Amino acid sequence: MNIRFSKLLALTSLIVAIALVAGQESPKPNPKDTDVWEPAPPVVTPGATDDDPPSDAIVLFDGKNLDEWISAQDHTPARWFVHDGVMTVNKAHGVGNLETRRKFKDYQLHIEWRIPPDITGSGQARGNSGVFLASTGPGNDGYELQVLDSYGNKTYVNGMAGSLYKQSIPLANAARKPGQWQSYNVIWTAPTFNRDGSLKTPAYATVFWNGVLVDNHFELKGQTLNIGKPFYRAYDRAPIKLQAHGDKSEPISYRNIWVRELP
Ligand code: MG
Repeated sequence: MNIRFSKLLALTSLIVAIALVAGQESPKPNPKDTDVWEPAPPVVTPGATDDDPPSDAIVLFDGKNLDEWISAQDHTPARWFVHDGVMTVNKAHGVGNLETRRKFKDYQLHIEWRIPPDITGSGQARGNSGVFLASTGPGNDGYELQVLDSYGNKTYVNGMAGSLYKQSIPLANAARKPGQWQSYNVIWTAPTFNRDGSLKTPAYATVFWNGVLVDNHFELKGQTLNIGKPFYRAYDRAPIKLQAHGDKSEPISYRNIWVRELP
């Protein structure tokens, strides 16, 4: 085959190819192309109200007993008070924080709390408690969502109710008056760690306080500390912990606590 002929052949092939492509009708988009049918989400029966546990929730406190809770200090049975369908912090010496028997990773949490109507004290010493979204030790170790009377009670804003203690400043102050029940709805994404214990992905918390978004997929810098810069320490699964704070103000109460583990 001489060069001229092969060039001609190549050119002809190109022209034929272009003609074929041009003549082809582009396929007509069909809505069905982007329909997804499987896998179908699991069926979850919602509660009677949005505050009630859905069918797949683990109920951590239903007003009857503290069976799901133990002492964070020594893992003995929980010694807070249960009365009138609520649980109240026991500030007696040696009782301390409570944590769940179960351990969790990522979850959705609902919890209600009430500052006593006759609350006294000021700043951090006025109805201080806390929900540790992951407890990594018996004391204040872990990741604390602050509970405090923040109805006209001034304190540092990264330590008011709705804050991830000393890390987030809540997007709003949604406090109700002392004596009224308040709620937190939380989405917790646990931190993950590499084999050597270094951080792989940070923790995130989204918090609704009385229905108001106050923490929006907030990235934590590590465990919540009272002193110093936060840092991460590797853990796998962790209990949820409630704080018996050492302030001298009247003890606060909790009720209707449930959690949904997330895949
Ligand atoms: Mg606290």
